[in-house]
Formats: sequence, C-alpha cells, structure tokens
Amino acid sequence: MNYQLLKKIIQENNSFLLTTHVNPDADAIGSEMAFYFLLKKLGKVVHIVNTSKTPYYLEFMDAANVIQYFDEEKHKELFNKVDILIALDFNRGQRMVRMEKAFRESKKLKICIDHHEDPENFTDHLISETSFAATGQIIYDFIKSTSIVEINIPIADPLYAAIMTDTGSFRFDRTTAEIHYIAADLLNAGVKPNDVYTKIYDTSRIGKLKLLGDAIQSLKLYGDKDNIAVMVITRDAMQRSGADEADTDGFVNLCLTIDSVQVAVKFLELNEGFKVSLRSKGEINVQKIAAEYGGGGHRNACGIRIRDKEMSTFIPVLIERVEKYLGKELARRN
Ligand code: 5GP
Ligand code: MN
Repeated sequence: MNYQLLKKIIQENNSFLLTTHVNPDADAIGSEMAFYFLLKKLGKVVHIVNTSKTPYYLEFMDAANVIQYFDEEKHKELFNKVDILIALDFNRGQRMVRMEKAFRESKKLKICIDHHEDPENFTDHLISETSFAATGQIIYDFIKSTSIVEINIPIADPLYAAIMTDTGSFRFDRTTAEIHYIAADLLNAGVKPNDVYTKIYDTSRIGKLKLLGDAIQSLKLYGDKDNIAVMVITRDAMQRSGADEADTDGFVNLCLTIDSVQVAVKFLELNEGFKVSLRSKGEINVQKIAAEYGGGGHRNACGIRIRDKEMSTFIPVLIERVEKYLGKELARRN
C-alpha cells in the first residue's frame, strides 16, 4: 500500500478504530496517539481500543484518557460500526490476544502500519517498513510525504516518544542521520526532549527497582566464552516486589551491557504462561529463533509469548537452541 492510497482512504472515510499490540510500549501508544491527533485534526471520529491497559509510565501520552481497554461485550459492535480499522506497531493477529477475534471477524476495511519482520497477511492493506526504526517514523514519513496535516505538538510529542524509545534513545543500529533530522523537526515543532525522556524513563516505582535487584541476582552466563546471558523473573519475584510486566521493559538490555555477551534472554513468568525477550548484538539474528517458537520482532530485539509450556522446562531448551545458533554463527565467521 502506498501513502497516497492511505491518504485517500482517510479522506474518504469518517470513523476509525486504532489498535496496537499486547503490553504496548512507547512506539505502540505513541503511534496510536499521533494517528489519533492526525485524524482528529481532519475532523474524524476516532476510537482507540487496546487489549492491554496503558502502562503507567505511558499514561502521560493519553492525558484526555481516550484509550479504551477492550471489553468484548462493550466493543463487539464498534468493530463493525467504524469505517476503518488500523493496526499499529504489530504485524500478527495473535499479538492482539483476546481482541484478535473481534478484529478478525470485523467486515470493515483493515490497514496495518508496522516495522517488524515477517508480516502476516491479516489486513486488507499493509504498510510494512522493516528498515524503519519505529512505527512512529512511518507515521512521520506519511505525514511529511502527503502533507495530510501540519505536525503540531499533540502529534510531535508522541512521535518523538515512539522514535526515542525504539532507537534506544538514539543509539541502536537504525539511528541514522535521517532519524536525527526527524528528531530535529519534531523539536522545531515544540517537543521538549528532557520532558519526554523524564516521563518515560525517570518515573519508576520502588517495586521496579526491587524486582530489578532480584532479576540481576538470577543472571547466569552460558555458551562459549560466556556469550549468552539469561535472566529469569518468576511469578513469586513479581509478587514480592509488587511490580508488573511493564516494569521489566529494558531489564534484558542491561544483560547485553556485559562485554562478553552476544545474546541476552529474559524469561518472565506471567499469570498465564510466560514471555521470553531476546536481544542480540550486531549481525546476530535472534528474530529467527523467536520465529521458531511462534514469536517475532526485529533482528536484535524480539519476543515470544508462550502459554502451553512450563517456563522451567522451556528455559534449558531455549538456551540450548541459542548456544547451537551462536556456535554455528561464530564458526561461519571464523
Ligand atoms: P520485548 O521483548 O521488548 O517485549 O519485545 C521486543 C520486540 O519484539 C518488540 O518489537 C515486540 O513488538 C516484539 N515482540 C515481543 N513479543 C513478541 C511476540 O510474542 N510475538 C511477536 N511477533 N513479536 C513480539
Ligand atoms: Mn515499534
């Protein structure tokens, strides 16, 4: 799908439902809010419905509290009432978890805008830019390419948050000159980088730091020359600290700061099943491994949500898989 077609669809329709993936991050919520304000500027009717509650550290982006928490009874009709459904920052139906059914069963026109690898064909139109650092960058590019609206502060702020976080505060591989030009443009529109950064990264609750202590205690190294770091967060540890899933965002990246480590894995036990986060350095592609177990994401950052296995039995299986993959990768390079 090209931007002009998306512009046309927006102009020719009146009501929109925006959604994003389970456990949304700042690119997810930021993309939704930027798109919301874009559509509102054009006088459209806009609903945002998510399968997860907005994590507390991202609530500032939705000051007017427009994001709704999905309730099957309450929202069933809405999915067939609006003209257009737009999926932002994910590319597989299963990432909507309990909302997937309502989305799939809707007869309305569906659009997916995303930057992850390997998109599933679950919408009528797809804008997939896997070389882009953030879904927020695609939205920025769309707005600039089509001049559909002027970028004002309500649009610029969430776009900046999306790009800042998905580039790891402008340090990951996809931090190009282009990204810095975009950031500069958003600053010119009025974004205060320190405000956005502080709201997202410096609003921790004590439970998060206590859990981090526990998670770091669990850290173990595996593989040739300690090149794999594994962190395990149990349901018990979660309960003891009072922290929640969103509090653990970023923990796995800390494991990657160990010099010898090429791949970092975080296992997080949830009320239902568990979640694996994988991170890697450089050319090491952990997305391939995540895909083998039904997960996905990007080359250097991806995840798997598992419901039908025990975490304790899956941990050694995955470690062995990563060891094997790294062994092969490193042998290939030598
Ligand atoms: P995180 O580990 O921070 O939750 O996710 C890292 C990246 O992988 C994000 O871009 C996220 O969207 C993606 N990701 C995380 N979990 C899953 C999953 O279960 N399935 C898929 N397809 N992608 C995931
Ligand atoms: Mn993203």
